Amino acid sequence: MSEPLLEIKNLKVEFDVRDGIVHAVDGVTFTINRGETLGVIGESGCGKSITAKAVMRMVPKPGKIPEGEIVYHRRDKYNPDKDVELLNLTNMDPHGEEIRHIRGGEFAMIFQEPMSCLTPVYTAGVHIGEALDLHRLLPRKVGDRMAEVISGYRHVTKEEAREISIEMLHRVGLPKPEQRVDSYPHQLSGGQRQRVMIAIALSCHPAMLIADEPTTALDVSIEAQILDIMRDLQDTADMAIMFITHNLGVVAEMAKEIVVMYMGKQVEKASTVNIFYESKHPYTRALLESIPKVGKRSTERLASIEGMVPDPFNLPTGCVFHPRCPSYMAGKCDKITPKWQEVEKDHWVRCLLYEDV
Ligand code: SF4
Repeated sequence: MSEPLLEIKNLKVEFDVRDGIVHAVDGVTFTINRGETLGVIGESGCGKSITAKAVMRMVPKPGKIPEGEIVYHRRDKYNPDKDVELLNLTNMDPHGEEIRHIRGGEFAMIFQEPMSCLTPVYTAGVHIGEALDLHRLLPRKVGDRMAEVISGYRHVTKEEAREISIEMLHRVGLPKPEQRVDSYPHQLSGGQRQRVMIAIALSCHPAMLIADEPTTALDVSIEAQILDIMRDLQDTADMAIMFITHNLGVVAEMAKEIVVMYMGKQVEKASTVNIFYESKHPYTRALLESIPKVGKRSTERLASIEGMVPDPFNLPTGCVFHPRCPSYMAGKCDKITPKWQEVEKDHWVRCLLYEDV
């Protein structure tokens, strides 16, 4: 049976800037279960990445979380008999020790552009070793002289860190990992750097991986390999994945459930099958229509969503999608804000077409 790992309840993230307040995430609610993948899709600027950063408590300044809860159902990996502990991450100091212990050790994140996250003067092995030193313990052996951290466990030694780094680089499919462990980021290709990022993220066996457009910068063959690696590691480690992308093909392959976002709000949430075959929200339908189809004549124009993404300082009244919506109902959609409601079992939509108004 599915067991929740992360519950996000009515999460809001705001940026108070000179021109006004931007509601980057506006009342997002979803649950990610242990060992399952949730896809988050939507156009650029719809709030996907800020939702992920809020979960990691890494919202950049001047952003803040004025409302909402991020509840982590924590299971102690070094003491599995202990009861699951409920931790509200929004109550934690984003720079405090408690969240730093979770970030990197229990929640890991991989980004679209690995070069911006790897330090140019450190080798792949040093990056992985640092994560292991901070966040991973090994079972204590007879003869260990190291201070006990948790009963029966101890820190990883330098030699073990190197061995684990090589093993992780091997697992993520990097060729010649014994040599690559000593490579600097500039000596690796884009695909290899992304694998190093995945190796760092997964080296401490996180319960949750947040993958923010992890394959967008890669070519399709490398993309397929990276997705395979993530799925393999998910199967062996029972890790949950929050997969953020605007690539609907990739999310169809990876996710069990999908959340569709528009202008900081969730507009639809359902199983992957229902999103692709029974989508209800006009925005989701428009996104699906815009996927290039095999067999379509090269002279035919690709479908696109009418209009432009609205100005975040001057959002449309009523439903924020109304100026672009093909199902717009004058006098309703521009006046009434749709509610987030379950229209079928586990199928949630924010649209007046499904409301009795
Ligand atoms: Fe379109 Fe109206 Fe539904 Fe908004 S509420 S998505 S404008 S039909």
